[in-house]
Amino acid sequence: GLAAVPAVLAAAVAGLRRARARTGRLRWTWAGLGAGAAVYALGEADRIVSAVLPGTAVRFPGPPDIGYLGMVVLVATALLIVPVAPQSTAHRVRGLVDLLMIATSALLVSWIFVLGPVLDGDTTGAALWVTVGYQAADVVLVTVVLSMPTLRRRVGPDGRALAVAAGALLAVGFADGLVAHLALAGTGPGPWADLSRFAGFAVVFGAAASGGAISGAATAAVSAGTGDEAANGAGQARLRPGLLTPYAAVLAALLAGLVWHDDGGRTDAFFAACRSALIALIVARQLLTLLENRYLTANLEDRVARRTAELYASEQRFRALVLQSSESVAVLEADSTVRFQSDSIERIFGWPARALIGRRLIDMVDGPARARIEAALASVRDRPQASAVVEVTLPHADGRRRQAEMTMTNLLHDPSVGGIVFNTRDVHDAKELQEQLVHEAYHDGLTGLASRALFAERLEAAMAAAGQGDGVAVLFLDLDGFKEVNDSLGHVAGDQLLVRVAGRLLESVREDDTVARFGGDEFGVLVQSVTAHADAEAVARRIVAALREPFTVGGRELHVGTSIGIASDADAGDAGQLLRNADLAMYEAKSGGGNRVAGYRPQMHDALVGRLELEADLRAALGRGELVLHYQPTVSLSTGEITGFEALVRWRHPVRGMVSPFEFIGIAEATGLIVPLGRWVLEEACRQAVAWGAGTTRRLKMAVNVSVRQFDHGDLAAQVAEVLADTGMPAGHLCLEMTESVLLTDTEENIARLRRLKELGVVLAMDDFGTGYSSLAYLRRFPMDTLKIDRSFVDRLGGDSEDVALVRTIVRLGQSLGMSTVAEGVENQTQLELLSEMGCDVAQGYLLSRPVPASEAARLLETGVPGRPSGAPVLPV
Ligand code: C2E
Ligand code: CA
Ligand code: CA
Repeated sequence: GLAAVPAVLAAAVAGLRRARARTGRLRWTWAGLGAGAAVYALGEADRIVSAVLPGTAVRFPGPPDIGYLGMVVLVATALLIVPVAPQSTAHRVRGLVDLLMIATSALLVSWIFVLGPVLDGDTTGAALWVTVGYQAADVVLVTVVLSMPTLRRRVGPDGRALAVAAGALLAVGFADGLVAHLALAGTGPGPWADLSRFAGFAVVFGAAASGGAISGAATAAVSAGTGDEAANGAGQARLRPGLLTPYAAVLAALLAGLVWHDDGGRTDAFFAACRSALIALIVARQLLTLLENRYLTANLEDRVARRTAELYASEQRFRALVLQSSESVAVLEADSTVRFQSDSIERIFGWPARALIGRRLIDMVDGPARARIEAALASVRDRPQASAVVEVTLPHADGRRRQAEMTMTNLLHDPSVGGIVFNTRDVHDAKELQEQLVHEAYHDGLTGLASRALFAERLEAAMAAAGQGDGVAVLFLDLDGFKEVNDSLGHVAGDQLLVRVAGRLLESVREDDTVARFGGDEFGVLVQSVTAHADAEAVARRIVAALREPFTVGGRELHVGTSIGIASDADAGDAGQLLRNADLAMYEAKSGGGNRVAGYRPQMHDALVGRLELEADLRAALGRGELVLHYQPTVSLSTGEITGFEALVRWRHPVRGMVSPFEFIGIAEATGLIVPLGRWVLEEACRQAVAWGAGTTRRLKMAVNVSVRQFDHGDLAAQVAEVLADTGMPAGHLCLEMTESVLLTDTEENIARLRRLKELGVVLAMDDFGTGYSSLAYLRRFPMDTLKIDRSFVDRLGGDSEDVALVRTIVRLGQSLGMSTVAEGVENQTQLELLSEMGCDVAQGYLLSRPVPASEAARLLETGVPGRPSGAPVLPV
């Protein structure tokens, strides 16, 4: 008996230690096993003490029985709380039914062999109850251990150890039950009871103390050395017999029932009840299994349906991909015979796949495509895995030629392909798009002319080629007054105008000259020839002539001029410099009044610097009194008398001398200085007019120029009123000259402004008539009194009869509108006579007098204009 104690204690300690290493319910399971072994050890100790001490006998029933029963309760509890994975309700219920089936079977067996005979016999008192207790404990143990395989699968790494330990305990319990039975029957336990205890608890120790290796060995030991049940418990696990165990138990019970003799004793009823319960349980289990299967089947069907749908969807996707693919896949033999051809070729190139199969690709294409494909094929044919890409033009079934990109890969040596794989894509649209993008980058979207980028590229190339014969010249153009058109008529009209201008530019150049739009109203022309510079000048003249004709945009007639700068490679080291020179020359042309051509001169760089200096100086000039007014008389064509003067500003520059308004009015306008400057001119002119006796004996008119910026900034009418009041100038003797650009901007508001000026009683003159943008349309709408016919028209008088007719028309127009007409820039007698004959009212020009300082103008008032004695008519009446 002694030998068993260390094994029991070792099992207790190992179980408890393992519990410490675990967490959660698994910890309690191992603790329960350990505690069970410990309780058992206590009972065993009592048995040993009784055996060793003289005069004492092992009490029956006594502490060893309590130890044993306590162990069973603890171990059963421990195994019942083994943690299992979450399960469905049906599954848990079935587990319970299984448990009941095993328990009932065990009870039945126990009843047949032990309890029935004991109860029917003469055993009474505590001994009876202990026996019943042992049997009940055995039933519990058998039940728990038999249900272990089911549990084991869900416990994880400890499952095997637990099963082994539990199997061993079952063996011990069974042995003890036998001992008790033998004790009741009056037979001694014999030595093998102790041996089984020792072996059993050694296995429990092994299982509790070990990982997988030792428990594996323990399993072998259990199978070899201890009771059958243990071997069964461990062995069943390998058979995964969760479903069969309960049936096996029931079968065993029913077989055992065959030996039961129905003798009408008091235990027959219990036996019958157990049997009925088993049958009920089997039926219940069957039903549950059915239910569960049905659920599983439904679930499975569901999943299969879902999966099928997924597969279908992905196949659809794949099909769509293949069908939509703009790629044809073909497998060719080494000599380019088509062995496989995907159907997509029909969608891409119009040829049905079957029409190509069996034919040689190189026989189906021609020209450069054939040569290229042959070359590419030759380059990959002898190199496994090699691939080549060629771009070729292939015939579409409908006759079009399509750009295609072919990738061929040599898989001749690949057993699953055994050919050269051709992937062919139609890249026609992509190519077209690319070309379009390039075109867009190189062409102006609005006019279709070259872009600045393309121009720069061509200029670069031309410069690189220059010196080998051809010279290079560039025209830099900027439209005059385009901004006003855009501002007043809107962008649509502005754009239309640009398109028309582009058309005329193209008509004015040779075919191989490049015309570009740089943006806005800036254009460039690249001239490349042996005599580039001379050619450029000819082109410029043609352009000026071409733009002279009015444009019709949105039903209006628009006049547009252009300032052109010309530069050539003679003065420039590179393309950038050449372009800058042309730009500079253009600026010169523009600041010279516009509508003219200027060739680049190196001094222009100095002029540019000078302009910048001028700008700084001009601010100071006004305060320093460096500005002076000169006066140019206007002469009546009918009487020859001076009708008035036009005040023209000059700048007496301390270093440069007398500076022309052409050089600084532009700067003054750009910087806003024109506003104070204009006010000064107005005051000075009025003061002078009053000093000459305006409004007294002679009805002299004083004409003052007003620029666009003055008109836009501040209230011109209020300023004029102020000046009139300050100087005592009668409003009717002041004439304000403004160009059409004044009238074009912001039409409605400008009409209102002009009305306010008009209400003051001042005279309004339209300056430079004929050079503006829409000569006639506005005349009727604005309250203008005087029409100043631009010098450019007067210039042309005396030669072409067409030009005479034009001026005559303008004069008639003025008359029909009730306006007085003034001809500007009269330089010769012919012009004077023609104008007089036409009925023009007033003349102004160098022929009569240059603009002169106030003192000289005063003298003219006395003497009359040179050659025209005061009071004498210009023409003999
Ligand atoms: P504009 O108003 O057309 O003035 C007439 C210009 O023609 C003057 O140039 C005058 O000297 C010039 N001229 C007169 N008769 C003849 C001729 O027979 N032949 C030629 N070739 N030219 C002639 P100027 O004085 O240099 O003035 C130039 C422009 O400067 C003016 O053109 C005017 O637009 C502007 N300007 C002059 N003074 C003022 C001013 O006080 N305020 C504003 N805003 N602009 C002014
Ligand atoms: Ca003027
Ligand atoms: Ca003028």
